[in-house]
Amino acid sequence: MIIKSLSVRNFRNIASADFIFDPKVNIFTGNNAQGKTNLCEAISVCFGKSFRSTRPAELIPFGSAEKQTAIELSFTFDSMPDKENVIRYEQKGSRCRLKFNDIELKEAEKLYGALRYVLFIPEDLYIVKGDPSVRRDYVDFVANMINRVHNVKLYEYNKALKQKNNILINMEPGDKSAALMLESWNDTIAKFGVNVMCGRIRHFGSLSALAARFYGQINGGAEQLTMRYESTVMGETPFTAEDVELMYDTYKRRLTETYERELKMKYTLVGAHRDDVSFAIDGMNAKDFASQGQIRSIAVALKLAEAQMIRDKSGDLPVIILDDVLSELDAVRRSFIINHIDEHQVFITSCNLADTDKFENGQIWNVSGGRFELKEG
Ligand code: ATP
Ligand code: MG
Repeated sequence: MIIKSLSVRNFRNIASADFIFDPKVNIFTGNNAQGKTNLCEAISVCFGKSFRSTRPAELIPFGSAEKQTAIELSFTFDSMPDKENVIRYEQKGSRCRLKFNDIELKEAEKLYGALRYVLFIPEDLYIVKGDPSVRRDYVDFVANMINRVHNVKLYEYNKALKQKNNILINMEPGDKSAALMLESWNDTIAKFGVNVMCGRIRHFGSLSALAARFYGQINGGAEQLTMRYESTVMGETPFTAEDVELMYDTYKRRLTETYERELKMKYTLVGAHRDDVSFAIDGMNAKDFASQGQIRSIAVALKLAEAQMIRDKSGDLPVIILDDVLSELDAVRRSFIINHIDEHQVFITSCNLADTDKFENGQIWNVSGGRFELKEG
């Protein structure tokens, strides 16, 4: 996919901006709080959903009398480079409309499913350094990106888990009927839990192999990234998404083993909801030992892996938006990002013009007070 042009009217601090984009790399530089992330967000809104806000009223410029905003984005799919498609977003007050080639879309999120793009925002660093829940959410996001049934499976699992935990919370000691109900919930949880684990594991192999490859490219081959899915059910036992019976039997055994402790803790102690992902650089755990630049490089490698997975699935190269990605990276890593993400169209923001001194091919826009100016030469 290539975004050809974008027009933004009255969106956050951007009063009016029009762009014809470079098919390869577009860099936006400017001081803090000038409108770089707002521009990235305007693109995400056209793709169905703001990555920053769920409240449309926040998108309207402060103090605006008309309380309306409009964005128009034109793009081509790689398979039909001559057919230009137009997405138009219009908002009046908190009423939003999204049109795709003049056809109104009732549920904008459907578009989000169809038009994939890849986004890095600084919060993505928490995939590496944050709590296990962030990493679980991330592997669920990747699994769902490839197969949308995954979120249904996850919903079923979480619902069953909640029911079981409610019994644990309210159960009196020696309550036999509650104990029987717990046993029955454990069957359900093991079944749904295996579904969730399979959904995650099925794509984890590609994600980790691709991320390792891109991590090597970002740092010039000096370091090696390895990723591992850490299952509270399977422990050190090796398993693949095909080992459904082994997983189910182990799941049930582990739930039985932890039963007494669960009664005390009033919580389900093992299962898909407690799993994690570990990252290691040259064998050292990244969460504990990696530098800021290494953590950032892992996050970028994951994003490039996502892009490749989308491409493998859809045949279309998604656009990549990298917001505030260059800070903390050395010259080798910066140069890779601005010059060597070859095939995709890339949008990069940076507060530091010097970050782009080795920029070889593409456009640079200066951003100031919500105004965008294309840098000549
Ligand atoms: P940084 O380098 O710090 O990330 P940025 O250029 O990405 O900065 P943005 O997040 O795009 O900055 O925000 C630019 C400005 O837009 C901020 O000052 C913010 O307060 C302002 N802003 C956000 N929402 C609105 C709105 N609804 N109306 C007007 N201004 C807004
Ligand atoms: Mg920003």
